[in-house]
Amino acid sequence: MSNKVCKNCGEVMASDCKKCPRCYAPAMDEPAPMHSETKRDWSFPTILAIILAFFGILGIGHILTMPHRKRGYIFLILGIVLFWSFIGAISIMRNSGWFTSLVLAIPTGILGLIYISAAIASILDLRHGSIFRFIKL
Ligand SMILES: [Zn+2]
Repeated sequence: MSNKVCKNCGEVMASDCKKCPRCYAPAMDEPAPMHSETKRDWSFPTILAIILAFFGILGIGHILTMPHRKRGYIFLILGIVLFWSFIGAISIMRNSGWFTSLVLAIPTGILGLIYISAAIASILDLRHGSIFRFIKL
């Protein structure tokens, strides 16, 4: 059985699929090209997603390519919450004494790492569409 590629998000699916399992766009009955990697090149949504990740905004690439899927909005909310908690913790540390700063340093660092992980995960998910395949959002 041959596979085909979603025209909307580049997901590879079985040739008998009527709808894309990832973004639910209607599937076209064209066979997949042999090198489907080129489908997920550095497109505009991916580049935009990477740039916005530096400003605490995740999931925009998902929302652009898959507006009817929840995962883009979940990434967006998660990104805003984590990013602004991190910024808030940094500003508290700047305005408080050494002891409070010391106590806050570890949770703030963890918060930053979680945000970076979420940002990387969202971009990998956008580019490869495979890491969260088990979560149907
Ligand atoms: Zn798709």
